[in-house]
Amino acid sequence: MTNSVGDQGSCLCNAVKATAIHMSHKVGACHCNMCQQWTGGPILMVDCGSDVSFTGEEQITVFDSSEWAERGFCKQCGSHLFYRLKKNNQYFLPVGLFQQSGAFVLDHQIFIDEKPEYYCFSNETQNMTGAEVFAMYAPMIEP
Ligand SMILES: [Zn+2]
Ligand SMILES: [Zn+2]
Repeated sequence: MTNSVGDQGSCLCNAVKATAIHMSHKVGACHCNMCQQWTGGPILMVDCGSDVSFTGEEQITVFDSSEWAERGFCKQCGSHLFYRLKKNNQYFLPVGLFQQSGAFVLDHQIFIDEKPEYYCFSNETQNMTGAEVFAMYAPMIEP
């Protein structure tokens, strides 16, 4: 992670606040089928590493979405709060939780092969297929 900045974000109803000590300014878009179904479209997330803490934790519902990862959301307002890789406790947080949008750049798009035809981002980004992502994160997702 380069150029990391710490920041605090919150869900729509403010019941949950997330604090990331080290946060990448590089935003990644995920077009995978699961994110599409979870959020209604692509999700834009930033890598926050493992140094993430939450207040209002009792308002968080965690959905065990795969053997290697889980997804959290606010049970009051439904805001998506995180995607967490279990093995290395790595958090990816939706960039929209944070207010300082000026600091971010759309840097990469993953699961580009699962992106539906009806939209595309015009940003110049590094794009990876699902197979490339699984290869890169193999140590985190293999049992
Ligand atoms: Zn909420
Ligand atoms: Zn995804």
